Amino acid sequence: MGRVFVAGSINMDVVTTADRHPKIGETVAGQAVHYFPGGKGANQAVAAAKLGAPSTLIGRLGADAFGQQLRQFLTAQGVDLALVKDTADVHTGTAVITIADTDNTIVVVPGANALVSAGDVTAPVLAKGDVAVSQFEIPQATIVAFFKRARAAGATTILNPAPATVCGHELLDLVDILVLNETELGLLAQTELHDTDDPVRFTEAARRLPTGLDKTICVTLGKRGVLALVGGEPSLIAGRTVKAVDTTGAGDCFVGALAAQLANGKAIRDALEYANAAASICVQRMGAAPSMPTAAEVAAVLR
Ligand code: ATP
Repeated sequence: MGRVFVAGSINMDVVTTADRHPKIGETVAGQAVHYFPGGKGANQAVAAAKLGAPSTLIGRLGADAFGQQLRQFLTAQGVDLALVKDTADVHTGTAVITIADTDNTIVVVPGANALVSAGDVTAPVLAKGDVAVSQFEIPQATIVAFFKRARAAGATTILNPAPATVCGHELLDLVDILVLNETELGLLAQTELHDTDDPVRFTEAARRLPTGLDKTICVTLGKRGVLALVGGEPSLIAGRTVKAVDTTGAGDCFVGALAAQLANGKAIRDALEYANAAASICVQRMGAAPSMPTAAEVAAVLR
C-alpha cells in the first residue's frame, strides 16, 4: 500500500453566532463560540487517515495554543505530523467566522500556512505508489516543488485548486488528477457556469481547461455527484440521495478519499465511486474534519 502525503493548510476555525452582524464600528453581543479544526490540507489528511490510508501532513503551525490543540486533534485522527513544523513568531492559521441568521462573514488569516516552503515539501521520501495532494492555501511555488519531487519518485499528484485562484502551466503540467468544483472550473476554464446544471456545459468547460486531456479531471457537482473526464472520456457519477445537514468539507472529504483509494491501488473509476460515497456521508454531519467517515461507514453505504 502507498502513502498519502498532503502538503497544505492547517487552521483553527473560530465560529461565533449572533442574532445579527454588527454594523461598521458597532459591537453586538453574541450567543456562542466554537473552535473547529480546519484548513483544506488538514481536512484532506484526516479524511485519508480515517479511511485507513497511511497519511502524512506537511505544513506549519504557529508556536501558540491553537497550534498545540490542532497537533493533539490531528494526532488523535491518525495523521502523521512528523513533517509539520512549529514556527516561532507567527500565529497558527486562523479563520474567524461569524454566523447571524443564515449569513456568515469569514476572515481567514493564513499565518504559518503562508510560510510552508519548498524546503518543507522536499523532505518526505516519496515512492512509486504514493499519492501527493495539495490545494491553494499554501504558496503555489511550494506546490510546484512538492509535485516535482513526487513526479520524480513516480508518485501520483492530485491538485485541488481551491479556493479558486488562477495558476500557470508550470503547476498544471505537474498534475495527474485535478479535482475542482464548479466555481474553480469556471475560473480556470474562463467560463461562466453559474447559470447551468447541464453536464454537457461542464464537459465542454473541462475540455477547455489548460491541462491537456491526458489528465484526469474531476468536477464535483455537490448533490449532483461528480463529472469525471478520464482520458478525455466523460462520465457522470450520480450523487447519492441523502439528507445533507452541512456540506462544509465535502470537497475535502472527496479529495482525501480519492487519494486514500489510489494509494490503496484502486483503479480511478472505483476510487471516484468510493469518494462520492464517502463525501455523501460527510454532508450528513456537522463540521469539516470531525465529519469525515471511517472505512466501515463507507463500506456499509456501498454494500
Ligand atoms: P465544500 O467547499 O463545501 O467542501 P465543494 O464545493 O468543494 O464543497 P461539492 O461539489 O459541493 O464540493 O461536494 C463534493 C462532493 O460531495 C460531491 O461531488 C458529492 O460527491 C458530495 N456531496 C456534496 N453535497 C452533497 C449532497 N447534498 N448530497 C450527496 N452528496 C453530496
